[in-house]
Amino acid sequence: MKAIVSLNSGSSSIKFSLFAIPTSGEPKLSAGGKIEKIGIAPQLRAIDIDGTVLIEKEWRDGATLTHADLLQYLFTWARDHPLQDREIIAIGHRVVHGGTQFARPRIVNEALLKELEKLCPLAPLHQPHNLAAIKAIAKLAPNLPQIACFDTEFHHDKPEIASRLALPRAMHDQGIRRYGFHGLSYEYIARRLQQIDPDVASGKVIAAHLGNGASLCAMQDGKSIDTTMGFTALDGLMMGTRCGSLDPGVVIHFIKEMGMDIASIEDLLYRQSGLLGVSGISSDMRVLSDKSSQEACEAIDLFCWRAAREAGALISSLGGIDGFVFTAGIGENASNIRAMIGERLRWVGIEIDAQANAANQTIISTTSSPVTVMIIPTDEEHMIALHTVNLLRETRQ
Ligand code: ADP
Repeated sequence: MKAIVSLNSGSSSIKFSLFAIPTSGEPKLSAGGKIEKIGIAPQLRAIDIDGTVLIEKEWRDGATLTHADLLQYLFTWARDHPLQDREIIAIGHRVVHGGTQFARPRIVNEALLKELEKLCPLAPLHQPHNLAAIKAIAKLAPNLPQIACFDTEFHHDKPEIASRLALPRAMHDQGIRRYGFHGLSYEYIARRLQQIDPDVASGKVIAAHLGNGASLCAMQDGKSIDTTMGFTALDGLMMGTRCGSLDPGVVIHFIKEMGMDIASIEDLLYRQSGLLGVSGISSDMRVLSDKSSQEACEAIDLFCWRAAREAGALISSLGGIDGFVFTAGIGENASNIRAMIGERLRWVGIEIDAQANAANQTIISTTSSPVTVMIIPTDEEHMIALHTVNLLRETRQ
C-alpha cells in the first residue's frame, strides 16, 4: 500500500501521521505519533490506527539531540519495522510562512528552500523548525518528494483591505503586509463545517483556533476574509507565550528607554509573554485553570477578554455573525474558556448551553441562540496529506 507522511515540525515537538493513499479519493489515516520535549528529554510515541502502540521511547539524557537526529531515528525505525507494508512515496510538511510568492503547495527544491529560509525572521518559532525537518529528510532520502504546504495559503486571497498595514505604500509592495496563519487548520474547519452544517458554512463564521498559538479567522462562505494574525504569528490574540497585538510604542520604549537589544525583545514577545508572562506561572491553560491564584485568574480573564474583543472586530469585518467555531487544544477541551468567551459575546446573540458545553458536544449553543456555536476538532495533518496527494496526482497526470 502506498502511503505518505504528514509532518508538523515545531520548536519542541514533531507531530507525524501516516496516511494510506487509495488510487482515488481521500487519504486515510493509518498511524500517527509525536516526538515531544525536544531539547529537554525527547519522547517518541507512535500508534497504529487500531490503537496498537508501535513504538515508545524516551531519551532521558537526550537534551542535545536535534530535530535531524530524531528524524533520522524515526526514519530508520519506520524502514525496519511494522510499517514495511506501507511504502512511503512522499512527505508533506506544514510550512508556516509562504510570503507573498508562495500560496499553493509546492514540491520542495533547493531554490524554494532558499526563498523560504528568507522568511525565517518572520516566523522564528516555526519556520526554522519546519525547514530543518525538510533538510534532514532530504539528506536521509534525497529522492523522496517533499511537499511544502503553507499556513498562509488560506488567507492569500482575502480582501486587499485586510492585507494592508497603515504604513507607507512602498512597504506593502516590499511584502510588509498582513498575511495570517493557522491556514491549514482553518481550511480543515471550513471543510468540516460544510459537512456538518452547510447553511452555517455558507454564512458568516468566526473560527477560533485556541492552542499554544491562537488566532481567529473570519470566514464568509468558507473563505478567509480577515484574521487576527498579521505580518507575523505574533499579532492578534494573547497566546501561551506570545503577547499578541501590542502598541508598537512599547517596542520603541524597550529600545530607547530600557536599552533592550533585538534578541531580548524577540525573546520577551515570543517566549516570555502571553499566559506565561501575565500569570508568572505557566503557558499551559490546563495548569492555569487548576490554580486559584489571582495571577492565574487574571491571565485567563485577559485571554478571554482579548479573544472576545478581537472577535468583535472580525464581526465588524464580516458585517454580522451566523456561526462561531472553537478548535485546537484550548478550544476543543476547555469548557470554562469557551463559556467565558461566549458570555462576553452574548451581545451578538451567542447563547451557550452549559450542559452541551461541559460535555464537549459538537453544537454547544442553545436551540434559541441566533448564532450556532460549535466545537470542531482540527486536523492540520489531514489537510497536509490532502494537499500532498492532490499535488502528486496533478504532477503525475
Ligand atoms: P499547539 O499550538 O502546540 O498545537 P495545542 O492545540 O495542542 O497547541 O493546545 C495546547 C493548549 O491546549 C495548552 O494551553 C493546553 O493546556 C490546552 N489544553 C489541552 N487540553 C486541555 C484541557 N483538557 N483543558 C484545558 N486546556 C487544555
